[in-house]
Amino acid sequence: MTKLQEIKTQLNNHNPPITLVAVSKTQPIEVIRQMYDAGHKIFGENRVQELEEKYHKMPKDIEWHFIGHLQTNKVKYIAPFVHLIHGVDSFKLLKEINKQAAKNDHTIDCLLQMHIAEESSKFGFDESEVFEGLQNVDLEALKYVRIVGVMGMATYTDDISQIKREFGQLRATFEALKSGFFEGKDSFKEISMGMSGDYELAIEAGSTMVRIGSLLFGKR
Ligand SMILES: *Cc1c(COP(=O)(O)O)cnc(C)c1O
Repeated sequence: MTKLQEIKTQLNNHNPPITLVAVSKTQPIEVIRQMYDAGHKIFGENRVQELEEKYHKMPKDIEWHFIGHLQTNKVKYIAPFVHLIHGVDSFKLLKEINKQAAKNDHTIDCLLQMHIAEESSKFGFDESEVFEGLQNVDLEALKYVRIVGVMGMATYTDDISQIKREFGQLRATFEALKSGFFEGKDSFKEISMGMSGDYELAIEAGSTMVRIGSLLFGKR
């Protein structure tokens, strides 16, 4: 079995199945095409220009996910085709996504990125910020964005208990939002957590979507 098949089998055997986002950043088109030909259609990219280029060169039934830090002035380039934006880390960005999505008359799914890692360099909301922000923004007016869950990245460390704690924290935030602000909204259901080095811990902690690059494609 290839690594792709092996991971997919593992994720599909989970109940409910977990979505695999193959993180294809820095990978050339030929390599992505091979994985597409092997039947995989969900890819994640973290740079706007690279994503745009790949979108134009690859078959149109691919679901492209944007997983990086997105600057508001670049939303317009990916709005026409992006399937899910994982890294929404401000309400200013959410409003811009809504504006660009409206221009394209297409609703864009988004995840609220939470800051769970110890490192200060990782982007995302603090828990209090997200609750406060949601109270102050008129989501009903943002008709072209749909918040479908949360995303986070754990600290890059060998300390398993720390990673578990951070994923547990993201899960808890998800549950709090699900039973609070997003009560009754069935579309609010995703927890995007887990990468090559920690996806198994993420699954144990309740991940619904893993973002895996190097384990599938080899080292970048
Ligand atoms: C690069 C990246 C990944 C994948 O990382 P790997 O360790 O190669 O699996 C996942 N999520 C984000 C946000 C990334 O930037």
